[in-house]
Amino acid sequence: MSRLSEDLLAWQIRSGRHDLPWQCPPRSAYRIWIAEVMLQQTQVATVIPYFQRFLAMWPTLFDLASADEDAVLALWSGLGYYRRARYLHATARICADQCDGDLPRDFDALAALPGIGRSTAGAILAQAWDLPFAILDGNVKRVLTRYHGIAVWPGSATVTRQLWQLAEEHTPSQHAGRYAQAIMDLGATVCTPRRPRCTDCPVAHHCSARGQGREAQLPVQAPRKSLPVRHIHWLLLRDATGRMLFQQRPADGLWPRLWSLPEAPHSPDQHAALFADFDEADRQALPALRHAFTHFTLDVHPVLFQGVRPRAACAIPTMAWHSPSDAAKLALPAPVRRLLTHLPEMPR
Ligand code: SF4
Repeated sequence: MSRLSEDLLAWQIRSGRHDLPWQCPPRSAYRIWIAEVMLQQTQVATVIPYFQRFLAMWPTLFDLASADEDAVLALWSGLGYYRRARYLHATARICADQCDGDLPRDFDALAALPGIGRSTAGAILAQAWDLPFAILDGNVKRVLTRYHGIAVWPGSATVTRQLWQLAEEHTPSQHAGRYAQAIMDLGATVCTPRRPRCTDCPVAHHCSARGQGREAQLPVQAPRKSLPVRHIHWLLLRDATGRMLFQQRPADGLWPRLWSLPEAPHSPDQHAALFADFDEADRQALPALRHAFTHFTLDVHPVLFQGVRPRAACAIPTMAWHSPSDAAKLALPAPVRRLLTHLPEMPR
């Protein structure tokens, strides 16, 4: 067993996290899988309420497999990276059909399922069944990069290979689940991205970055590139009863299958007139909002049209008028939900 794993295993018992909802009984591969997928790109504090609602709604893999995809997306609404929800649902269906309602214990079979890559498969196998498989999520990468003093950007294929090798070397043959939890806990609570708490760290004595006083400089940041900005108008068409027009997005691309607002790249009035009649005086440009994606920045310019008269002639299957209470139950992207909660009052 490596020095790092020995120190971490002892530290986890003393100071690690033991009361996260997915660690509490009944501990199961299903619960760990849901948590691991939710935790991809998302912090624990954000995940906890979603995890609890998800498990209350679908306590078993069979329950999730028989759920409607729109209901899964609606519960995921606000958590982002919606492909994860669709993959969870697809994987549940595969496992209900082919694996008797459980996740496979075979690494290759598990890692091949939708939305489960190498690290998530390792995390499930280690935490659910204590099998000695390595994990390499963002927290683990940061800890290993600092501990081994890797002074190059860890995103390249060569360094990723090196990190996987180190992750495997440190994974103990016994207590792999506790070790996985320990290194994730260390990354989340001590070896944090900014201002790591090296004086409280159980591996500080052997940490290369600490020894060289370079903990604030590692990991080396990715070369900065400026992201393109896309501009779009969102049309908020509100009729006299308060209903608004929503449009379901296509299965591919941004926010797949979520309900959003009709969009117009240019000429919002012209586009709005396709769906409803309105009076110029009841049109209002709302403050712009910005949403950052990995590959671009979206600048949204919302335009509110009050008291519109819906056109019966333009019935499009992916569009629907919803009251505010029905809209709240839809799978909405977070910026749409935010925008709706800050809308001006209806005129009297
Ligand atoms: S000593 Fe500091 S930099 Fe090194 S692993 Fe611990 S917290 Fe991270």
